[in-house]
Amino acid sequence: MNFHLKLYSKLPATAISCYNQSIMQEIYWPEYIEMPVKLKLADLHIHTTGSDGKLTPREAVDRAIDGGLAAIAITDHDTIEPALEAMAYAGNRLTVIPGVERTDSLLRHHLALFPDGFTDNPASLKKWERLAWMVQDTHELGGKVYASHPHSMATPSLGRRAIFFLIKHSNPLVYIDGFEVFNGAVADNPFGRSNEKTLDFYRRYRPYLGAAIGGTDSHRKKLGRVVTIFPANMSIKEALESGTTGVAFSGETDTPPLCELIPQTLSSWYHAFKLHRS
Ligand SMILES: [Zn+2]
Ligand SMILES: [Zn+2]
Repeated sequence: MNFHLKLYSKLPATAISCYNQSIMQEIYWPEYIEMPVKLKLADLHIHTTGSDGKLTPREAVDRAIDGGLAAIAITDHDTIEPALEAMAYAGNRLTVIPGVERTDSLLRHHLALFPDGFTDNPASLKKWERLAWMVQDTHELGGKVYASHPHSMATPSLGRRAIFFLIKHSNPLVYIDGFEVFNGAVADNPFGRSNEKTLDFYRRYRPYLGAAIGGTDSHRKKLGRVVTIFPANMSIKEALESGTTGVAFSGETDTPPLCELIPQTLSSWYHAFKLHRS
């Protein structure tokens, strides 16, 4: 990957006490916060067999624990049930944030992460509603909203206009809590190299975009390739709320074969286009 080398450098070996330290090759830590001596890792974008992923929710938990992650978010498409299953299975062995990757009326994705113990009416999370309605809905349910793979051309995503629409919205419940500055699926997709652009955008508009997050966006078996890094003396929740987060990328790729990738990319755009015209 060719990212901004002045921002990404090797993670200091002392920063992380878990297994991942040797494989985290590239890092973004906000320039305005001193880098903590010890960090923890969280993968905040994971799909399971509950939608279009290949790991079961339980396998995702086991792999995260084996990999030394401090927290994960299970973010299946428009369903929170796999996340609740992972949470129940993990118990207190791992922080599992209940999440959903929501799809709006233009089939664009965004992440909603809910508080601990969010189990109310899992079936009530609606999809294909207007973006502002969905963002307000997540906030009313106590959740937080993150732009996933923003600007990506590979998957319908919130682009510049949609992001400005949210941050300038007059409704006080319509705003974003964070921004996925690095997405593993985008890094793998030859049609979607937008992580660089995304990081530039984040650095420029950071005061309006909340916490920087990163996630593998795992649809296959590997997780923890892209992680949100945060100070070891904070919980992931405190770090996200205070914006004390950065992102690290292992440099590993996990590119699906072209025979999977091309139909996936074309079909997500075809459906978005069809819905848009209807
Ligand atoms: Zn997505
Ligand atoms: Zn995703």
